[in-house]
Amino acid sequence: MSKTNKGKIYYSMQAISVLPIILFGILVFISGTYSFTKAMTEEVFDHLDTSAHLCISQINSIYPGDYTLRSASLEEEKVYSLYKGEQDITNAYGLADHFKEDTGMDVTIFYENTRIITTVCDREGNRIIGTAAPEQIVADVMKQNQAQFYDNAHVNGELYFACYHPLTNADGTVVGMIFVGKPVSSIKPIINRSLTPMLLVGLISLIIAIIISYSYAKKILSILGRIKVFFQKTSTGNLNVKISTDILNRNDEFSEIATAALSMQRSLRSMVELDGLTNLLNRRTGEQKLKNTYLSSDDSQMPFCIVMADIDYFKSVNDTYGHHNGDVILQNVAGLLKKHTAHRGYAVRWGGEEFLLVFENHTLSETLACLEQLQEELRGFVHNVEGTELSVTMTFGVACDANLELDKLLELADDNLYKGKESGRNCIVS
Ligand code: GH3
Ligand code: MG
Ligand code: MG
Repeated sequence: MSKTNKGKIYYSMQAISVLPIILFGILVFISGTYSFTKAMTEEVFDHLDTSAHLCISQINSIYPGDYTLRSASLEEEKVYSLYKGEQDITNAYGLADHFKEDTGMDVTIFYENTRIITTVCDREGNRIIGTAAPEQIVADVMKQNQAQFYDNAHVNGELYFACYHPLTNADGTVVGMIFVGKPVSSIKPIINRSLTPMLLVGLISLIIAIIISYSYAKKILSILGRIKVFFQKTSTGNLNVKISTDILNRNDEFSEIATAALSMQRSLRSMVELDGLTNLLNRRTGEQKLKNTYLSSDDSQMPFCIVMADIDYFKSVNDTYGHHNGDVILQNVAGLLKKHTAHRGYAVRWGGEEFLLVFENHTLSETLACLEQLQEELRGFVHNVEGTELSVTMTFGVACDANLELDKLLELADDNLYKGKESGRNCIVS
């Protein structure tokens, strides 16, 4: 298909074959990434939640009793001690550090909003005790007495996946919170590592789908293009244009279209090239074919002969038996002419009851031999015309001179036919 001939279907097909897959791919990419990240985040939250529960029950089993803060102000510094039951746990960092070693998670115990025990350290490596939790988190967890999860909690200038659980005393009073968390920077790479192969497989599948779909569309378009060229050439009168066999052998709708197109071409060709009554070549096609025979015999030096053949006294046959029966006789005669020129050359209805026979690669004597056989069969051929049996004869004028121009050759054949008519008909003159 040439560039300028590309029509609407060409572009729509290409768009249809690729765009939906790309859109589908983008949707799957976005929703897949979102769902996967969400599932992973929930998994992390679950883990944090379990760990927070574990930590709370460890504290409760080691230090039974309620949380109480006992404080005494010195001159410029606030000094406090956090008790759990009767134990001062203000400096029980060992518990928190063990927890971090076991689980890899940071842990902080808040009394009210203040960090009392924590594994989170500042840049200098000091635990960030005494600092306050963000107000929003305190409001979410302590005021609502409900565990909360965050995937972006700011702790000491770093983002955390965090779980905050309220800490309650035996009477249900919320006295503080426990924080269990992991830096986002340590979780995100794990999520990304798991996501990358999945996305890669998705991307490769998408590319493969696009390639398959695009090449299929291209193939269909190329077939459509070739069928279009066939029709364009046929419409300009070229009835010999071919359709490639790979389309005809496809065994699908395209092969059906191609087969129908070929049979249309055959019908057109026979309408244009053949005579309607006798099915022999018509004069226009016969003249063209004769020119080709003449030229190729000139090139190959192979002999050929032409014969003008005319039915004798055909007017009286028509007058006696009617035009319709005359037609039947013409068809019978044409059948004989076709039979005797088959594989030797061709027969043309030159006009009325006059025919041109061409014997290719035949010498004069070979042609005469063929004509004698034909004449013999014609004489014996019985035409059944409305209950009456009759035979007709023909006169033949032969011309075989390779040195003559084509029109002179035709004139010679005509002259010989005339001579045959003059000398009583039913004969062969060469
Ligand atoms: P000759 O032996 O000299 O050829 O005599 P003829 O009667 O065959 O020749 P003539 O030229 O006088 O008549 C030819 C006749 O052929 C006249 C015409 O009606 C008839 N004819 C021509 N074409 C057709 C046709 O298609 N069908 C029928 N039935 N007759 C045709
Ligand atoms: Mg005649
Ligand atoms: Mg005639």
